[in-house]
Amino acid sequence: MGKLRLYNSRTKKKETFFAQGRRIGIYVCGITPYSVTHLGHAFTYTFFDVLGRFLRHEGYRTTYVQNLTDVDDDILKRAREEKKDWRELGEENAQKFLDDTAWLGSIPPDMYPRATDHIAEIITYTKKLLHTGIAYEKGGSVYFEVRKDQPYGSLSRLSYRQMLALANERGNNPKDPNKKDSLDFVLWQKKKSSEPSWASPFGSGRPGWHIECSAMATKYLGNAVDIHGGGGDLIFPHHESEEAQSRVANGKQFARWWMHAGMLKYRGEKMSKSLGNLVLVEDLKKRYTASAVRIYLLSHPYRSSFEYFEQDMDKAKVLDMIFQQVWRAQSALGEPILVSKYESMFYHALHDDMDTPKALRVMEQVAQEAVKAKNKKNITSAKALLSTAFNILGLRITYR
Ligand SMILES: [Zn+2]
Repeated sequence: MGKLRLYNSRTKKKETFFAQGRRIGIYVCGITPYSVTHLGHAFTYTFFDVLGRFLRHEGYRTTYVQNLTDVDDDILKRAREEKKDWRELGEENAQKFLDDTAWLGSIPPDMYPRATDHIAEIITYTKKLLHTGIAYEKGGSVYFEVRKDQPYGSLSRLSYRQMLALANERGNNPKDPNKKDSLDFVLWQKKKSSEPSWASPFGSGRPGWHIECSAMATKYLGNAVDIHGGGGDLIFPHHESEEAQSRVANGKQFARWWMHAGMLKYRGEKMSKSLGNLVLVEDLKKRYTASAVRIYLLSHPYRSSFEYFEQDMDKAKVLDMIFQQVWRAQSALGEPILVSKYESMFYHALHDDMDTPKALRVMEQVAQEAVKAKNKKNITSAKALLSTAFNILGLRITYR
């Protein structure tokens, strides 16, 4: 077994991965089901699925937790606009997401906690932060005082001004008169009329976004998560704030590895509901196999953002067809084709910060050699290697 090196967004470099205990705790921020999920979401969750599969293949045991942010500003806003019950809206979109993920062949998380089931834990967490003195209560809301936390900003490495600008884009209210500083973020927000609320020692209200993940991650994985992942757009303010409040509440570093997947673009812009430039898994389903879509996603380095072009999906479809030909190809009794070189190249690629594009290229070579040698040589070792690769990458034999 070679050494697995993973890029850590916290230190901004590749570091040799090591386990802390018998199990590796992986927490990946799940979706906020306020609208349909798209191929960009599929990219993130497919990558973390493959990471989990590979870690298990390497002999680790994993506990993979992926939450559902089922109460938040976006859901409530969208529900009001669509005149729908916020819970119903969340359920519909969460179900669609689960259907897409299942179709893509991802292994379901070990735990799939939803924020609304963890209000008690969130309240306890908030109380803990009040107790440390870093949080303050004002007008029925509770805030995290950013200026009091010296390391705040160290994950995103942004200046105060950059942080404030980004936070404002993502739901921060800099003019909230209860705040000591515009960048302070909410842990508990006072009930607004018509919004759902829960009773708490600070008054009726609902949790802030970041504290939900801290509470759920800590509950299921303890105070130090081994790998915390999500889409790259979550680094600030979500992960920065999660990290700060967990570190302060528990007195230790929250996540050992922070890992982030790149963003998908379409027609020159980041894929987003508001711009309407979405590529949906449910549309791709009609034209491609799940393995072709996975190959497409995994043929991009996980940390880079990239643009969706249909011709790339067609290329992935061709590669899937080459792979599938191997399963149909008959082996002969003759001399075996040698795959040990490819095998080590395949693992070497994955050990190098999960270089799935390279791993796929190596498997393409194996498949091509095997197809060429069918009926002439013994290709069983090529088939065996390809089977292992299929398991790690989550690809399916469709035999066509
Ligand atoms: Zn989160």
